[in-house]
Amino acid sequence: MVIVMEVGAAEEQIAAASNKLIELGFQVHRIDGVNQSILGAIGDKRGLNARQLEILPGVREIVEITKPYKLASREFKPDDTVIRLGGVSLGGRELVLMAGPCSVESEEQIETIAQLVAAQGGKILRGGAFKPRTSPYSFQGLGEDGLKLLRQAADAYGLLTITEVMDSSQVELVAQYADIFQIGARNMQNYSLLRAVGRSERPVLLKRGLAATIDEWLMAAEYILSEGNYQVILCERGIRTFSDYNRFTLDLGAIPVVKRLSHLPVIVDPSHAAGLRERVLPLARAAIAAGADGLIVETHNRPDEALSDGPQALLPEQLAQLSSELATIGRAVGRVFEAPVLSDVSPN
Ligand code: PEP
Ligand code: MN
Repeated sequence: MVIVMEVGAAEEQIAAASNKLIELGFQVHRIDGVNQSILGAIGDKRGLNARQLEILPGVREIVEITKPYKLASREFKPDDTVIRLGGVSLGGRELVLMAGPCSVESEEQIETIAQLVAAQGGKILRGGAFKPRTSPYSFQGLGEDGLKLLRQAADAYGLLTITEVMDSSQVELVAQYADIFQIGARNMQNYSLLRAVGRSERPVLLKRGLAATIDEWLMAAEYILSEGNYQVILCERGIRTFSDYNRFTLDLGAIPVVKRLSHLPVIVDPSHAAGLRERVLPLARAAIAAGADGLIVETHNRPDEALSDGPQALLPEQLAQLSSELATIGRAVGRVFEAPVLSDVSPN
């Protein structure tokens, strides 16, 4: 249930309503909008007389949330969530490009790629240090050394970092190097991990599970939000279907659906859906046209030598093409993508 306060309700009135909810056994999540505050009350409503709340000074109305997810729903928060982080804003008009290799492999590799990403207007450098590989014998990532290299390369080119955290025991370590946590598709329903990142202050990019419905995905987001971390970014990365020509089927139709059901930003990973680099750009274009707030793509300076996901890594010239198309397609759908400033890509 949501308690909508009057426009301009006094701070004491908001606090009193919040205390009343706590006294009644609810967990309270407060969201302050431009003009108005709302209190999300999560808990058992049986036996509650809503009149008790309606008559409190400063309370405008009580709205029931009909969806199984509460804090993630638009019923709870009608306005889009915009995540602001180090000069980048995600979920507003601006389109955000996150790019980098699948895995951090060496200092030379990540530095070279960071430069390419910065040169193409990318704001966030991706790169896995803990890799969820199908085979236990495949490259598993460089661990903490990889995190250090990612941070160093990002800092050299004024980028933010995003990297996967695979287990709740890694949250503290990864937080030392990552600006955004990535929860991988295979971990979308790892509830102890979701709760752990929910207790942190870092934004979390939550990939959709390989076979997750939209409701399951939003319920996974709810785990993070319910711990008090409201900075969740949803990421569609392709799901398993009977279509076997691509690695996964990018569910483009999910973008407008999720944007309507939830206020959270939605970004798309066309790389893992495509599986092959020639297919990444067509999917990326479609994703932006369908309303995504940005993209996360894999790119590599020497993809033939990549230790993971080489075949889907964009070549540097393809990343450049993507960047220019982001500006063009973005403009057509009322979004902006900051064109790269080519003179500004030397290391700091
Ligand atoms: C990745 O981003 O490299 C990755 C493993 O993604 P996903 O969890 O979507 O498979
Ligand atoms: Mn990958």
